[in-house]
Amino acid sequence: MAITGQCLCGKVRYAIEAEPLGARTCWCRDCQRIASGSATVNVLFDEAAVHISGEVGTFGMIADSGNQVERGFCKSCGSQIYSRTVEPAGLPMRIRAGTLDDPELMAPQAAIWVDSAPSWAPFDPALPKYRQGPVSPLVGKEG
Ligand SMILES: [Zn+2]
Ligand SMILES: [Zn+2]
Repeated sequence: MAITGQCLCGKVRYAIEAEPLGARTCWCRDCQRIASGSATVNVLFDEAAVHISGEVGTFGMIADSGNQVERGFCKSCGSQIYSRTVEPAGLPMRIRAGTLDDPELMAPQAAIWVDSAPSWAPFDPALPKYRQGPVSPLVGKEG
C-alpha cells in the first residue's frame, strides 16, 4: 500500500510506492526559515517512487553544502511538501514529515546542521547530532 500525504488545503497530494530510507531533523538556517523557526522534519525516499499531484510551486537555491536544492510547496496554501537535490543527482527526496497522512511512519533518526540551531533548540539526547552535513549520502543538507 502506498504511503500518502497532502498539503494543508489538500490540493497537493502524493503517493509513494517505496519504504522510507530514513528520517531526520535539519537545523540549517534555510530550514529554520521555511519551518517558521524550528527544524524541518524530513522522511527520505527514492525520488522515482514519489508521485505528486496538484499545482506545486518550486524555489531553487544553492545550499550551504554547495548543492543545488529545490523546494516544492503548494501554490494555493503555501505548505512545504518536499526538497530535492537537483545537483548532484541521485540523493533521496526529502518529504516534509508533517504532510504525511501518517506522521508515525518513521521517527527522526538524527539531527543535522545542529551548529546552526538556536540555543533553545530541543534535541533528543538519544539521537546522533551532526554539526553540518553531509557525512554520508543519506545525511546531507535537507535544504
Ligand atoms: Zn495546499
Ligand atoms: Zn535544512
